[in-house]
Amino acid sequence: MTSIGIIGSGFGALAVAVELKRAGHTDLRLWERSRDLGGVWRDNTYPGAGCDVPSPLYSFSYEPNPRWSRRYALQEEIHAYIRSVADKHGITPLVRFGTEAVAATWNEDSASWTVTFADGSVETVDILISAVGQLSRPVIPHIDGIDTFAGMSFHSAEWDHSFDATGKTVAVVGAGASAVQFIPHLARDAGKLLVFQRSPNFLMPKPDKPYKPIHKALFRFAPVTQRIERGGIWTIMEQFARGLDDESKVGRINRAIALRHLDQQVADPALQAKLTPDYPIGCKRILFSNEFYPALAQDHVEVVTHAVTRVTPGGVVDADGVEHAVDAIVFATGFDTQDFLESIDITGTGGQKLATQWADGAHAYLGMYVPNFPNLFVTYGPNTNLGGGSIIYMLEAQARHMRQAIDRLEAGRYSSIEVTQEAEEAYDLEISEKLEHSAWAHCENWYRHRSGRITSNWPGATLPFAKATKVLEPAAFHWA
Ligand code: NAP
Repeated sequence: MTSIGIIGSGFGALAVAVELKRAGHTDLRLWERSRDLGGVWRDNTYPGAGCDVPSPLYSFSYEPNPRWSRRYALQEEIHAYIRSVADKHGITPLVRFGTEAVAATWNEDSASWTVTFADGSVETVDILISAVGQLSRPVIPHIDGIDTFAGMSFHSAEWDHSFDATGKTVAVVGAGASAVQFIPHLARDAGKLLVFQRSPNFLMPKPDKPYKPIHKALFRFAPVTQRIERGGIWTIMEQFARGLDDESKVGRINRAIALRHLDQQVADPALQAKLTPDYPIGCKRILFSNEFYPALAQDHVEVVTHAVTRVTPGGVVDADGVEHAVDAIVFATGFDTQDFLESIDITGTGGQKLATQWADGAHAYLGMYVPNFPNLFVTYGPNTNLGGGSIIYMLEAQARHMRQAIDRLEAGRYSSIEVTQEAEEAYDLEISEKLEHSAWAHCENWYRHRSGRITSNWPGATLPFAKATKVLEPAAFHWA
C-alpha cells in the first residue's frame, strides 16, 4: 500500500484526499500546522469575508450543498462546508493538527520522502503532496517606522477581533479583493476611514441573493436544479475567463459593465476619477461588490491615491509627504504569492533544492510535477490560479490526475514517478507563450515573479485545464 502524505487541510488537500480515498488509497496522512481544517477559509475571518465565486460552483462537483444560505456564501459557511465534506469522507481523523512541515528530503535508496516537522518529529511517505496553497502567507510591507506605531495594526488575514473601530480614525492600506469586502463593514463603525489605494481595480456588480426556502427545497429534492444553476454559472465564468484581455470582445463588455457600475454608484466626478483604473481590464483581479463604492462615497470616508511611505507613532505618511493622524491601521496588502513552497526546505534528487530550481519563478508540468523531485505532487501549484472561475474545479482536475499517477505506479509496481525535463520544458514554453499575450502581462500584479515570469495563473478558462489533465500521459514521466 502506497503511503501518501499531504501538507495542508484546505480545499486543495481535501480535493486530493477525497479523490484518493474514494479510489481505495487508505494510507493517507494530512499534516496541518493550525488547529483546524480549512486553509484560507479558516484564516480569513475579516468582516464580510466571503467568496466572489458563486457557491454552487465554488464547491465540489460530487458534494453539492443544498443548504447554501445565499449565492455568494460567506467565510463561516464555506468553512463549515469544508469541515462537513472532510467529516463525511472520513478525512478529519487522518489529519494531524498543530504539525508544521519545515523540510522534506527525497531518499533515493528507498524512493521515499522524509518529512520533518517544526516540533522535530519526522515521518516517511512514498508520495508527498503539497497542498499549501498560494495565499497562505500574509504580507505586511516593510514601511519605515512601522514598528513605532502606537495604535492597533494588523493584516486582514489575521483580523484582530478585539478591535473596535467605533468612532476611531482608521487607515486601510490596500484596496484589493479583501479590502473591497471589509471596507463597507469598517466604514459603518469608524469615525473616519482613510483608504490608501495605490491602484484602483475594475469592480463589477455582484448578482448575489439569499436562497429562499423554495430554492433550498428544490436543491434538496430535485438536485438537478442546483446542477443547472452550477452549469449556468460555470458557462458564464468560462466566457468571463476567456475575456480577461482588453483586446477581446468579452473584455470590452466587462470593461463597459465595470465603468457603468462606477458611474451608477459614484456621483462625484473627483472620486470617480480616483477609482478609474488606467490599465487594461483583467490585468489585476476583477472584483465584485455592490457595497464598496457606496461605502467610499460617504463623507467620513476618504480615498487617498498614494501608497503609505512612512508610519509614525500617531499616523501614516503618504507618498506626497502628507501625514494623516490615525488610531489604527489595517493592512490589506495581500500575500507572499511568489515564493511557492519556500517555507518548506525541499530537497530532491542529487541534493537539488526546490527553492534554487525555482529561483527565477516556479514552473511545473501541469502545475503539479517538477523534474528532480520524484513522487512530489503539488496542488494549486504554479500556473493553476484563475482570473475567473472556480479553483475547486481546477483542484478536482488535479486530484484526478494525481490519482491516475498513483494508480499507475501501483499497477506497474514502480516505486517512483518523475516528470521528464523535456516534458516540463515543452509544457512551460507553451504556457509562457500564452501568458505573454494575456491580460496579466500588462501591469504590476501578484501573479508575476520579480523575474517577470507569470507564475501564478493558468491562461484561460478551466475546461482546457480539465482536458489537459484528463488522461495521464505516461511518456511525460520516468517510471522507476
Ligand atoms: P491583493 O489583491 O493582492 O491586494 C493587495 C492590495 O494592497 C492592493 O491594493 C495593492 O496595491 C496594495 N498594496 C500592496 N503592497 C502595498 C504597499 N506596499 N503599499 C500600499 N499598497 C500596497 O490582496 P487581497 O485583497 O488580500 O487578495 C489577495 C487574493 O486573495 C485575491 O487576488 C484573490 O485571489 C484572493 N481573494 C479572493 C477572494 C474571493 O472572494 N474569492 C476574497 C479575498 C481575497 P496594488 O494593486 O497597487 O499592488
